[in-house]
Amino acid sequence: MNPRKPLALGVISASLLFVAASRPQAPKSAAPLTGFRDPAAESKIEDQFLAVPNAARAGQDLKTLTAEPHLAGTPEDYQTAQFVARKFRAAGLETTIVPYRVLINYPKKVQVTALAPDGRQLMSGPTPEHLARDPAGDNPRVAMPFNGSSASGDVTAQAIYGNYCRLEDFNQLAAEHVDPHGKIVLCRYGQNFRGIKVYLAEQRGAAGVLIYSDPQDDGYVKGDPWPIGPWRPDIGVQRGSVQYLFKYSGDPETPGVASTVDLPDSARQSAYGNQPHIVSIPLSYHDAAPILQALIGPGAPQGWQGGLPFRYHLGPGGVTVHLVSDQDYQRRLIWDVIGTIPGSQSPNEWVVTGSHRDAWVYGAVDPSSGNAALLEAVRATGELLRHGWRPRRTILFCSWDAEEQGLVGSTEWVEQHMQDLQHAVAYFNVDVAVSGSDFTASAVPSLQRFVRQVTQAVPSPLGGTVYEEWKVSHPTQDEHHSPAAPDPPGEVHIGDLGSGSDYTPFLQHAGVPSTDIGSEGPYGVYHSAFDDFAWFKQNADPNFVYLQEIARVLGLETLRMADADVLPYDYVAYARAIGSYLDAAKASAGVAHLRSLGFAPAREANARFLAAAQQVNSLQSAGSGNADRLNAALRATEAAFLDSAGLPGRPWYKHLIYAPGVYTGYAAVVLPGVTEAIQAHNGPLAAQQLTALTQALDRATQALLSAR
Ligand SMILES: [Zn+2]
Repeated sequence: MNPRKPLALGVISASLLFVAASRPQAPKSAAPLTGFRDPAAESKIEDQFLAVPNAARAGQDLKTLTAEPHLAGTPEDYQTAQFVARKFRAAGLETTIVPYRVLINYPKKVQVTALAPDGRQLMSGPTPEHLARDPAGDNPRVAMPFNGSSASGDVTAQAIYGNYCRLEDFNQLAAEHVDPHGKIVLCRYGQNFRGIKVYLAEQRGAAGVLIYSDPQDDGYVKGDPWPIGPWRPDIGVQRGSVQYLFKYSGDPETPGVASTVDLPDSARQSAYGNQPHIVSIPLSYHDAAPILQALIGPGAPQGWQGGLPFRYHLGPGGVTVHLVSDQDYQRRLIWDVIGTIPGSQSPNEWVVTGSHRDAWVYGAVDPSSGNAALLEAVRATGELLRHGWRPRRTILFCSWDAEEQGLVGSTEWVEQHMQDLQHAVAYFNVDVAVSGSDFTASAVPSLQRFVRQVTQAVPSPLGGTVYEEWKVSHPTQDEHHSPAAPDPPGEVHIGDLGSGSDYTPFLQHAGVPSTDIGSEGPYGVYHSAFDDFAWFKQNADPNFVYLQEIARVLGLETLRMADADVLPYDYVAYARAIGSYLDAAKASAGVAHLRSLGFAPAREANARFLAAAQQVNSLQSAGSGNADRLNAALRATEAAFLDSAGLPGRPWYKHLIYAPGVYTGYAAVVLPGVTEAIQAHNGPLAAQQLTALTQALDRATQALLSAR
């Protein structure tokens, strides 16, 4: 998973104590380094590290990882686990392949047929992903197009067109008097997480869902399709999970419990709270076009017309669709690979760095680029170990399985290690490491300065630093419309963490401060058979230098966090972000006619939090802080944002500042309890959630003040 998106400091970093020091060598001459008493010694280790990651080796590992389709739980997936484990061991890591037994589906039969009113067959699919110039789709081990978590069923119904199948699209259908009840809703991919499309359709009584890739969104309207260019060919299908991820991630049968191999079946739930109850099937536009073209009824409203060369209509009428989905649900083994380097001084404090390994098909970009970058970061860390270096804190490198089925491998591991993770100081994720040359990042506000500083120390393949290229290539926040934290003036934008990758259980369930990085470009073969090595080499990174770049950034995040004398968190940025989220929530309360909702206590609590964060900064500047006490206080602050009761209606999600939106899925909803209650026009719930937030801010303030 992971179609994604991406602040700043300088001012505050200079005010921190064990802090800003000049780096000795270009290109890092001016790179600030927060949190070290002896920045020169740290720089020396970092330089040794940065010299190791090698582009050609990363390319070779990518080729090995993408040799065969490796869907979670298959023998080919296990082979990639063994390959990664060998590489971890070769680097000197204590390595284990950790199995979990989880409920996932493989397709036995998937069929879509469309008939005109006179019985004439309009289409029958899915059409195989065959391209003469790239035989990737012809391998018999390529899974037929299907949705993870789809229900099984055999349904025949009239079709209707639902655009992106967002909440506003279903509202528009209602305005047009088109009722989804009992219909098969044809949705196009994009704008939200596919599970949300199915959820909204199910809520409205739809009989089934087809989700297709419109050429306007990632096909020929964008540019040349593969194998000429990077965009989606007519028969390319986006597979993907339609799990109700916003309820909880991971094994559907064990929310909050690890699905270890010895967990008895009696401890697994039979009611799957995060699974759809209707059939959903993904389609190429080659297969969707005859259905769309035959639809009659109202013409497509403004913004609903896609890139196919005929006028779209909403239906119903003109076409009846027959869906057959026979999904083989079994409890299957999956395999995380965990490599550990024990910390020399604070072994209980973990730095966790991970990337998922399983793919819908070959997965060159998603996720093998992530695992290839991870492996080079691991190899470079191994070189340091060979030269006698030991990290202060414990480092865990993780290659997750079954991410595509709903963040399953990472979620089960987090659920198994909840106690240990109370002391984890960071989780660094990479999923889609490389689809092009534009660096992007998302992070909790406390780690945004840290990410910027790390990228100031890593060279870009284009010359200068990653940070400098990032500034050139990326729009400033004004050009984004996400509710992201405010960036300091002139700084690169770092996005909020929503969902769609493995940081979700770490941050939103366990409260571990997290980041997510990648390097992006035009990418139209997402979750199809054509996300393969040939596509990657032609379109994403012909010389694998961006794999090398991500290996360096990911590795440096890990090393620096593992060795810092004082955790380089920045809570002033967090308080400013929360301030802006409160402003946005107050404005939306006005729009929702909830003007009487009292924001004053939360704002006052946040002002106290900001003042405490500033005090901690000046404590550090004055050099009067006790490092151990400071570190404990800094770590406890993020944990203060967890509420053991969880969010309304979804108790697995415990973080009161960030969650995947119920109606957006991938994109973050900020202050989720408050924001979603306002969206639902539920004044009493919004008031209760504001109180919970105020209490969390007071806990965070107390945690910071304990540093004194
Ligand atoms: Zn992925």
